[in-house]
Amino acid sequence: MDDHRDDKYEDTELEKSDGSVTEEKKSDDSGSDYEDVCFICRRPESKAGKMFRLPNHICVCDDCMHKTMDTVSQFDYQGLLNNPNMGDLNGKGFPNISFVNLADLQGDGGIPNKQKPKKKKKEKAAEIDIRDIMPPHKIKQKLDEYVVGQEHAKKVMSVAVYNHYKRVATGTMDEIEIEKSNMLMIGPTGCGKTYLVKTLAKLLDVPLAIADATSLTEAGYIGDDIESVVSKLLAAAENDVERAERGIIFIDEIDKIAKKKNTNSRDVSGESVQQGMLKLLEGAEVEVPVGANSKNAMVPLATVNTRNILFICGGAFPDLDEIIKQRLSKKTSIGYNAELKDKYDKEKNILSRVTVEDIRKFGMIPEFIGRLPVIFTLEGLSRDMMVQILKEPRNAILKQYQKLLELDEVELLFNEGALEAIADKAMEKETGARALRAIIEEFMLDIMYEVPKDDNIGRVTITREYIEGNGGPVIDIRSRSAEHPDRLKVVQQQGSDS
Ligand code: ADP
Repeated sequence: MDDHRDDKYEDTELEKSDGSVTEEKKSDDSGSDYEDVCFICRRPESKAGKMFRLPNHICVCDDCMHKTMDTVSQFDYQGLLNNPNMGDLNGKGFPNISFVNLADLQGDGGIPNKQKPKKKKKEKAAEIDIRDIMPPHKIKQKLDEYVVGQEHAKKVMSVAVYNHYKRVATGTMDEIEIEKSNMLMIGPTGCGKTYLVKTLAKLLDVPLAIADATSLTEAGYIGDDIESVVSKLLAAAENDVERAERGIIFIDEIDKIAKKKNTNSRDVSGESVQQGMLKLLEGAEVEVPVGANSKNAMVPLATVNTRNILFICGGAFPDLDEIIKQRLSKKTSIGYNAELKDKYDKEKNILSRVTVEDIRKFGMIPEFIGRLPVIFTLEGLSRDMMVQILKEPRNAILKQYQKLLELDEVELLFNEGALEAIADKAMEKETGARALRAIIEEFMLDIMYEVPKDDNIGRVTITREYIEGNGGPVIDIRSRSAEHPDRLKVVQQQGSDS
């Protein structure tokens, strides 16, 4: 039934653009007892599936349409279609196909504007003014407002980004070509890798695509093509090719594409993905589908050059510390091996001693590492950092809850003990700062539920006891005095046992 309605809709769309069919045909079609037959393979609609309806009552099935498109594309059909002088070829070669607007053939009545690539303005390439680029100390200052700790990472990133955009601004004018500053960030989960990149992209006002390396496979296998990351970026740039070409692509979980050890089968999601990414990282012209995930004849393509796209790869690299320890103890010990190994076991920030050699041992191929010249590590979050994350960043979680309750004219306070208890709980989960939100959400549920019920509540204080399950929050009741409607009067503790 639905199908039938769709067909009708399609008819109307084509008729509109073509203008050649009258009202009469519409009623004709909808009432017909005969099945449509494919003009090319002669199969009926019940066998060949939904038909594309072309002017002059011609129907073509999906398969034939694709085959035709493939053949036509060998003749650069896009070039033909875009060339206004080709109108007089109508009727030759592929009648009624090459001159139908491909967009109109789609079931939804055409490709909406948002799916079309914006025209590339050639003469406007590299137009960033060096003086407009934020200097590293300013970038870091801004990052400080949002990201707690990770001083080294913020510094390295600020400089790398500054250099990268300087490179974009100068283009390839002189013989000294500045190398790309693609980055590799190594740090445990939840320590702020994605958050750093997101913040960076926001403050630089460039489009950002975040992709997950685990879903990437070599082209032709189940999974996302490597080039799909570029198409994500294009979408983030609202199909503005020029903007996308200056964007940032963050590929998370990059350690998951390490070479698989002891495998006899083809490593389609490991080493091959690294191989496939080499060209992208360095700079290549990539044809990406606009507004869709896969290339097919019905989707317009845009060419994106990745030369000026900044690639940032991030990963937790589990067990990399073991590789580092092994190397360090080998280097310094001849005869005292056991003792020295212990020494490195205790070292807290062992990851920061990482070298290219260690990463190679982990399973990344040398060519891949070579294209990520800026390598740095992030530290795992300590309890103090967790507490800071709760309250200090510009959009800290506590500030968000305070704002929510402020709208109900209720003040929300957390005492230090409560913050420490939350941080302790988060540390136990070993998922970094990501655990914080989940924990707070759990405790705030009751409060967010109860507070709007009672207009008298003026202030809620979250205590360590409440977090640890030994008591309730302190509720202060608003004074009802007429002269001081906002004055708060402390009333004894009330447990929230709901
Ligand atoms: P990952 O390192 O696994 O990519 P994320 O960057 O996604 O972790 O961190 C998850 C969340 O934790 C972020 O959305 C952010 O709110 C918070 N967070 C993590 N690290 C920090 C930090 N150093 N400063 C402030 N917030 C942080």
